[in-house]
Amino acid sequence: MSIPGLRNLVNGAFVSAKEGGLLDNLGPATGEIIARIPRSTKADVDAAVAAAKTALPAWAKTPVAERAALLDRVADRLEARLDELAALESRDTGKPVSLAKSLDIPRAIANFRFFADLVRTQPGESSAMADALNYTHRAPAGVCALITPWNLPLYLLSWKTAPALAMGNTIVAKPSELTPMTASVLAEILMEAGCPSGVFNLVHGLGAEAGDALVSHPDVALVSFTGGTATGAKVAATAAPQFKKLSLELGGKNPSLVFADCDFDKTVQGVIRSAFLNQGQICLCGSRILVERPLHDRFVDALLEELKAWKVGDPADPATKIGATISADHREKVEGYLKLAMDEGGTIRCGGKRPGLPAPFDGGFFLEPTVITGLNATCRAATEEIFGPVVTVHPFDTEEEALRIANGTKYGLAASVWTSDLKRAHRVSQALESGMVWVNTWLHRDLRVPFGGVKASGVGREGGRYSLEFFSEAKNICIHLGGPA
Ligand code: NDP
Repeated sequence: MSIPGLRNLVNGAFVSAKEGGLLDNLGPATGEIIARIPRSTKADVDAAVAAAKTALPAWAKTPVAERAALLDRVADRLEARLDELAALESRDTGKPVSLAKSLDIPRAIANFRFFADLVRTQPGESSAMADALNYTHRAPAGVCALITPWNLPLYLLSWKTAPALAMGNTIVAKPSELTPMTASVLAEILMEAGCPSGVFNLVHGLGAEAGDALVSHPDVALVSFTGGTATGAKVAATAAPQFKKLSLELGGKNPSLVFADCDFDKTVQGVIRSAFLNQGQICLCGSRILVERPLHDRFVDALLEELKAWKVGDPADPATKIGATISADHREKVEGYLKLAMDEGGTIRCGGKRPGLPAPFDGGFFLEPTVITGLNATCRAATEEIFGPVVTVHPFDTEEEALRIANGTKYGLAASVWTSDLKRAHRVSQALESGMVWVNTWLHRDLRVPFGGVKASGVGREGGRYSLEFFSEAKNICIHLGGPA
């Protein structure tokens, strides 16, 4: 089978990298090369930013209704290609096709529809004085750099692209070089749907080359970055001296707090989903399970029992619950944490090894879902982000202790609380150092609400009006109504 070659989209044309050559893109489920992508350099980024800068004035003046209509047309086209996109996302990431079909692609479609509706109905802001009227004019921020990771490729790119376009910005997107496929299809769809040349540009390549050239480009006004905390720190250090608008959605080590009065069966199901969805490679995954001591052993037994039935392997098999991790390097990083957990006194209660799979999946980067108990809640394996199919479980005796453990990491992205005591639900949720808390549920998303983290999990909020505000500059206009100055 011939290997497809992807291209950049610059000023409405699909082009190869000017000088950097090609990179191999491996399929995580087999380890085989599934595509080649441009290894873009500064020269490609410069061309893409120049195109975005040229296209900006006309797109900024395009009526909101027309911009929103483009988003709706994109959503329609994504929907028409849902099966193809789900298969592609699965090939590129190693995730089960069933997950891409039920989560990644539908959410990407929903993001375009949601921001189309929101920008159409966005209320204005004004405040009247006795002798003057103030109103807020929202201008586009300018050329936006959108940098996205490999775990939810199309979903996260659509989460940034839709509001950026809705507010009249132009875009240069740089997806992870590990997962370029669906970004390329989105670029095609945007062009087919009538997006003017230069409004959306796509540059493939490495973070340290294309990504860095994009963030440091003086004509880029805004950077929306989703990725790891260490990369986020580099991006912030590059962007800050140029006073770019910056949103950083970074890593997490999210706690699930399970109280003895929870609805047991519902909690086991919810906590397992939160720990292992997408092979545990979602920034919001609950990778530390804190269980009130009287329930601890029963809860661990139920987790182990449930996981026994989980199928690991062929992402195209509808019965598969756990696909491949993203790469050989990433799996080794996760395995390094398993070794560390044992050195730190933990016990691997299930998983912890590579499954023996038949060809072609014997070349893939699979790892069995893993539950670790017996660790001190302050040790490295229990406080650092592993970002794989691994959870640690810890008992606690009091609400105060649960909060101390939950808040005892450098991260603060998301948490879930499982209890039937409503007062405790409020009290604990408010005391958690976290940008988002779910009570008796997880990943229950309302696209209007603020999304983002505290501490090392990020800076800024996106979602609903927060995205529209981030992707625009508010200008106050004060009209004097006459009379004495
Ligand atoms: P990385 O931080 O490695 O990469 C994220 C993106 O940044 C990629 O496109 C990467 O390109 C690019 N990049 C890397 N170096 C630079 C640089 N110097 N300048 C500009 N861009 C750069 O994250 P991963 O892709 O490994 O994703 C996993 C991480 O993302 C996890 O820590 C996870 O928690 C976090 N994440 C956070 C989310 C949130 O909303 N808070 C959501 C999803 C993931 P390349 O891949 O080509 O190197």
